[in-house]
Amino acid sequence: MRIGVYPGTFDPITNGHLDIIKRAAKLFDKVIVVVPINMNKKTMFSVEERMELIKESVQDIPNIEVDKTSLLTVDYAKKVNATAIIRGLRMVSDFEYELQMAAINKSLDKNVETIFIMSSHEYSFLSSSSVKELVGFNGNISEFVPEVVKEALYKKYQK
Ligand code: ADP
Repeated sequence: MRIGVYPGTFDPITNGHLDIIKRAAKLFDKVIVVVPINMNKKTMFSVEERMELIKESVQDIPNIEVDKTSLLTVDYAKKVNATAIIRGLRMVSDFEYELQMAAINKSLDKNVETIFIMSSHEYSFLSSSSVKELVGFNGNISEFVPEVVKEALYKKYQK
């Protein structure tokens, strides 16, 4: 069984992430979307909230699992017998960081490959942070995030 791990902050999950998940689901028997637990990054949604939003967004894709971890991605991949780490690549600006991460992960464990999936053009400028910014200005985010995420974002901003 070919297992891929798709790690990310997903604060919150966007249609850009979903596009990568759906395409990865065709390449692997199982894709585990995994959220890191102890990250220094300040997030709008808690780990549990982010996992729940991912779960609700992927419920019609059968071979997706959602998990959280405090392990390094390569160690998590090893633990779940994954052969690859999946990452999405948007514009050129993603490249340098992603190349560095892939190189580090390769040196930590040469058996785990990093597979990059190029963003579909309609999502190539979409990020969780731009969606959050847009909501803050009452912008329409319907085409950028699943309905559940849209509702969760509006709720956060009403607080
Ligand atoms: P991280 O903090 O790990 O970068 P993100 O949630 O920002 O977490 O992103 C997780 C992965 O999804 C990264 O590989 C990122 O490049 C990719 N990604 C984010 N947004 C998009 C998008 N719109 N299209 C394709 N890939 C994306």
